[in-house]
Amino acid sequence: MRKFKFSKKTLLSFLLIFIWIVGLTHCDIFGPSYDEYVFEWLDFPFANPGNIERMAAFGIPNWSGTDPHNGIDLIIYESLYGTRIISPTNGTIDSIDISENPYSHPANQLLLTIHIYINSEWTVALVIEPGTSDETIKTAQRNAVLVEEGDTVSRGQSITDLLVGEHGYPHLHYMIMRNDEPVCAYPFSSASARSIFDDIARTRSNNNLPDGNICHGEGY
Ligand SMILES: [Zn+2]
Repeated sequence: MRKFKFSKKTLLSFLLIFIWIVGLTHCDIFGPSYDEYVFEWLDFPFANPGNIERMAAFGIPNWSGTDPHNGIDLIIYESLYGTRIISPTNGTIDSIDISENPYSHPANQLLLTIHIYINSEWTVALVIEPGTSDETIKTAQRNAVLVEEGDTVSRGQSITDLLVGEHGYPHLHYMIMRNDEPVCAYPFSSASARSIFDDIARTRSNNNLPDGNICHGEGY
């Protein structure tokens, strides 16, 4: 009986194909091959930046009594009814959480957090804080959300209106997470988004930028 045998050449070919497949799925040497590695600069999260009265920097120490401020606050004019917040990225709505803020004054004001999953490395959290403990405004803020969990969103897509509550300081706490660690959004923003941040930092008189930087202590 004739024994079936692979030639050395065939075995070598199989080995190379195996290494190639392992390389494609596990390594970067052939370049990023799928979505896991894609990150595009973030757009500015407001449709109308002219509605922003002032901002507070990322990284301000002891913001909540213990930890440094882990987002950038973008505060809108209280004279508005509200203003439109848009997605700064392509992604998926991971979760929409409603809670109360124990650190707010007065305590337990509405926190509405919309998590946008970009990839396994990057997440955006849009924390909507109208400055309210009023049940009617809380309900209106919940009803203003235009997306649902599981939705795919595109950059620039309307996410919600940020409403204005009775306690003041209506704002978006703009939070970017990289590998579950909060990072300052500014250096990861597009050139046009950065110029909007710069314009607010330069032209608004009552910003909270203790060392002049949007990312406190980081020199941006
Ligand atoms: Zn904040």
